[in-house]
Formats: sequence, C-alpha cells, structure tokens
Amino acid sequence: IQRTFSIIKPDATKRNLTGKIISKFEDAGLRVIASRRIQMTREQAEGFYAVHKERPFFGELVDFMISGPVVIQVLEGEDAIAKNREVMGATNPENADAGTIRKEFALSVGENSVHGSDAPETAAEEIKFFFKDEEIV
Ligand code: ATP
Ligand code: MG
Repeated sequence: IQRTFSIIKPDATKRNLTGKIISKFEDAGLRVIASRRIQMTREQAEGFYAVHKERPFFGELVDFMISGPVVIQVLEGEDAIAKNREVMGATNPENADAGTIRKEFALSVGENSVHGSDAPETAAEEIKFFFKDEEIV
C-alpha cells in the first residue's frame, strides 16, 4: 500500500468538478485519507513548485494555482503513485488517453485540472508540505 499527494486545481473547482474527479480516484481503487479545500498563497504555490522555478511557465503556473480554491488530498492504495498518474492522464490533455481526468476535463497543458506526485520521495515531501500526520486517517 502506497500514498500519493493530489491537488484538484482551480480550473476544476471553478467548474464544480470536484466530486466527479474524486469519483475517478475512488473507482480506480484510490482512497481519500486526507482532504482540505484551501486558497493557496503565492508563497505556498512558489514553494510547492520550486523544482519548476527555472521553467518558462513558472510565473503562469503560480498565478494559475492561486487563481481560485484547490482541494489538496492524500490518496492511498496499491501502487497509488502510478495508479493516480494513470487516472490523471498525460500532462497535455491533447495527449491524454480516453477516460482519463485530463482528457475529460482539462482545458490546456497549464489548466489541467489535477496534480499528482511523480515518485515516492516527492509524494512524501508534498504530503508533508500540506498535512500534519494526525490529519491523515
Ligand atoms: P503535475 O506535476 O501537476 O502532476 P505533471 O507532472 O504531469 O503535472 P509537470 O511537468 O510536473 O507535469 O508540470 C507541472 C505543471 O506545470 C503541469 O501540471 C502544468 O499545470 C504546468 N505546465 C507544464 N508544462 C507546461 C507548459 N508547457 N505550459 C504551461 N504550463 C505547463
Ligand atoms: Mg509533476
């Protein structure tokens, strides 16, 4: 059993897609074991995406992530990191497989509805960035 960190991004919360996205996780066997809806601060968004700070889209990404509420979650399940990324689909919705969250809901490569950790180390770091141990049940 493994844990991963997920964000339902502002483009999705604005369009009232939170429940539909969570259903996709649950249908895939992922369990929501922590969840909170927050308005990210610029400092939080810059810290969370610090690995992308030299990329040309960094400013746009931070502006987008603070443009509305997000739902941060910890998902648990067998092979949760890979499974979550499978359910999310490719970063660019044009390349995402049918039935994935990004194929169905994403608006563009930037406004792509969800974030999911990409490795065990980043999952652990990202979970710790937003949640206390006692919030994860
Ligand atoms: P995430 O980390 O959000 O789960 P990912 O791992 O598929 O997505 P990354 O390459 O880590 O994609 O990029 C992080 C985020 O930065 C993407 O989800 C997207 O919102 C944004 N992004 C990536 N590439 C671009 C781009 N070319 N233009 C605009 N935004 C981008
Ligand atoms: Mg990533």
